[in-house]
Amino acid sequence: MASADVVVRPTKWSKVAVTLNPIFRKGVLAATHNRAVAAGVRRYGMQCGAARFVAGETIDEAVPVLRSLNQKGLRTNTTLLGEHVRDETMAREVVTAYRIVLDRIAAERLTTNVALKLTHLGLDLGEELAYANAAELVAHAATRGNFIRIDMEESTRVDATLRIYRRLREAGHDNLGTVLQAYLHRTEADLEGLLPLAPNLRLVKGAYLEPATVAYPKKADVDAGFLRLAQRMLRAANGFTAIATHDERLIEHLIGFARREGVAGDRFEFQMLYGIRPQLQADLVRRGHRVLVATPFGPDWYFYLMRRLAERPANALFFAQNLAHR
Ligand SMILES: Cc1cc2nc3c(=O)[nH]c(=O)nc-3n(C[C@H](O)[C@H](O)[C@H](O)COP(=O)(O)OP(=O)(O)OC[C@H]3O[C@@H](n4cnc5c(N)ncnc54)[C@H](O)[C@@H]3O)c2cc1C
Repeated sequence: MASADVVVRPTKWSKVAVTLNPIFRKGVLAATHNRAVAAGVRRYGMQCGAARFVAGETIDEAVPVLRSLNQKGLRTNTTLLGEHVRDETMAREVVTAYRIVLDRIAAERLTTNVALKLTHLGLDLGEELAYANAAELVAHAATRGNFIRIDMEESTRVDATLRIYRRLREAGHDNLGTVLQAYLHRTEADLEGLLPLAPNLRLVKGAYLEPATVAYPKKADVDAGFLRLAQRMLRAANGFTAIATHDERLIEHLIGFARREGVAGDRFEFQMLYGIRPQLQADLVRRGHRVLVATPFGPDWYFYLMRRLAERPANALFFAQNLAHR
């Protein structure tokens, strides 16, 4: 079946939601940079609902959460939340913290890898700094038999992120992967450029506020692009595909596609976020699929939380009600 065949038939309510959601999403993402919003959410956020999406503020709090997910048959990754560090000392502190996280994962024998952001390792201070920090962590992860995924951030950082990913692969590191975002017009070309590397790629829809010049504004276009890209990745002769979405219709379609194309079960997995659709995660494991739950922790959870609230009006409403009742 061609990807165009799977476009979902809209109901009256889904049409309303499709119209309102992009406006809502833009509003929340824009409010993220408002100082009063940031101060209020940072002060009360953990008690008001952030804990649903974040596995605590310290690695000690995160370890039991990761373990209990593993015990349910779910693989996990973890992230020390934070982005956009302002100086080299802060970037160094982040590298040290990730070394400790990798050591702790090994000591606790968790089925957990690491996903990190290059702006957290100093990308805004210079590409060389981010490269050196990422190289150090990827090498350290290799000594622990572990794997690092480089998350994808705003469109202005895609070129540098892909350059660093390529350089690391060319330097001989193969325990790393990166992310492609289906909402960007450029992604099909990026994917074709990466496929010869037999890459380990996570495909997402994309979480940032991007102009229509670089990203599809319509959800239907993003969803169709997601399917096209995922199918291309699954059909590729080698590499590994992480299908990162909570969108059940896309997941079911891709399960059928993988079955028809004879894609081996160890060549792809589904990835979802901690706290989102846990029942779907469990059902997929029960059906024999490989599922990873991205489970971040850390005191700097503000931007991560705001992106999750922007994705779903019900989350933001629930959160705002809790905040108002304080
Ligand atoms: C493992 C993982 C890693 C990611 N890494 C990146 C990255 O590196 N860069 C990046 O730009 N983006 C990343 N994202 C975020 C991604 O781009 C989307 O913003 C996010 O996944 C929401 O889109 P969706 O695919 O789930 O589909 P949507 O169409 O947004 O949602 C489909 C359905 O999923 C459920 N759902 C979705 N979001 C929520 C939510 N917040 N709360 C409750 N239910 C929800 C709802 O039932 C919804 O109807 C990542 C997502 C995942 C799952």
